[in-house]
Amino acid sequence: MNVTVIGTGYLGAVHAAGMAALGHNVLGVDADPAKIAVLARGEAPFFEPGLPELLRQTVSSGSLSFTTSLQEAAEFGDVHFVCVGTPQLEGSHSADVSFVDAVVTELASYVTRSCLIVGKSTVPVGTARRLAALARSITAAGVPVMLAWNPEFLREGFAVEDTLNPDRLVFGVSDDRSEQILRSVYAPILDKGTAVFCTDLETAELVKVAANSFLATKISFINAMAEVCEVVGADVVTLADAIGQDARIGRQFLNAGVGFGGGCLGKDIRAFRARGEELGVGEALEFLGSVESVNTRRRQRVLDLAANILDGDVAGRRIAILGASFKPNSDDVRDSPALHVARALHSRGAVVTVHDPAAIANARRAAPQLGYAGSITDAVQNADLVVHLTEWEEYQELDPGTLHSLVAAKNIIDARNALEPDDWNAAGWNFHALGRPIAP
Ligand code: NAD
Repeated sequence: MNVTVIGTGYLGAVHAAGMAALGHNVLGVDADPAKIAVLARGEAPFFEPGLPELLRQTVSSGSLSFTTSLQEAAEFGDVHFVCVGTPQLEGSHSADVSFVDAVVTELASYVTRSCLIVGKSTVPVGTARRLAALARSITAAGVPVMLAWNPEFLREGFAVEDTLNPDRLVFGVSDDRSEQILRSVYAPILDKGTAVFCTDLETAELVKVAANSFLATKISFINAMAEVCEVVGADVVTLADAIGQDARIGRQFLNAGVGFGGGCLGKDIRAFRARGEELGVGEALEFLGSVESVNTRRRQRVLDLAANILDGDVAGRRIAILGASFKPNSDDVRDSPALHVARALHSRGAVVTVHDPAAIANARRAAPQLGYAGSITDAVQNADLVVHLTEWEEYQELDPGTLHSLVAAKNIIDARNALEPDDWNAAGWNFHALGRPIAP
């Protein structure tokens, strides 16, 4: 099948390579010519494990190519996946759907034959139905254009695996033909027995925001427990292990720490609340406000802890920040808790040096005022405090005994509860974590 993928960012680039790996002829489209030039060489424009190999293979075999022209895409595609961004609207909590609107409008004006437009971007419920009518009103008479919604659940850091072996597929459709086309596009995945949910457009849109709301709630739930643990000297990690043992609860996504960030969870729950207000069901989603407040307070907790450890004031003190991306195995710094904390410490006068295995270039663009180091040893040199903020594996493998000869003072905050407290305490460090008692 001839497939186009419009918007080749964190989602679309992986989806395009994945579609080509499934055996389709794929044309990736992006408005950013620099990104398209990198992709056309078979290279990944961002850090994602497994993506460079998949791109190299599919571009060199000729099954994947790239363009900046939507007109070319319209001529090429039987199926068009829309993967452009839906960021938070400036000055509001709502989603900015103008990029999705622009793509559907332009594409519909160019198509000259029957095709299926498939939205993958995360959108407020009701968007797909509106866009279906919009597309119909623009396409030339006699050109049947269908529209479906197929939300995406991939996790950055595992995006290739999640694209080729998803937990489930969701097809929001309004006619049988659209479902048939989606079933043949995804046939190699469905043949493996992957669960598929064929729904109306609204349910498909809601599955995505409901999933993200649940995940954010689970993280904030355990972080709320961490707040209580801090007051009474209890241990949130043991608490999570114990409640997570219950199969109805589950241990995943119960890691207390500095909270969630990234380009999705925060903006998606805010947009869901805003959409709920518009629909008159704002009260039902009020709890998402608490989810967000708990999350924000965790960042503040790290700042307070840093000040306490440094005798009340971080000004003039050297602080090493381990991690800049919002999660490990990604270079994405959108709404990164690590960068948020680093920026806030810098604005309070601390001398901040940030290390990250993959996200330094993006972090430097987003926060040029901070200091950066190419190695962990350079970052911690003469530090008064080390703050571990993104749980990259290489930080968990650090030897506290080796590191302590480099720092000015052996103070560390593990803001991800991913380091082994006993190892750090035994090496003489003043070890602090979130929601865990401090060793005597
Ligand atoms: P992104 O910002 O990395 O990528 C969006 C891309 O769209 C950019 O490359 C941009 O240049 C391009 N674009 C914008 N307007 C365009 C136009 N008119 N024509 C062609 N290209 C255009 O964003 P992302 O993280 O890939 O997210 C995209 C969507 O997928 C969002 O709705 C997001 O919520 C959703 N999503 C993201 C993830 C994730 O892990 N990143 C997971 C699931 C769903």
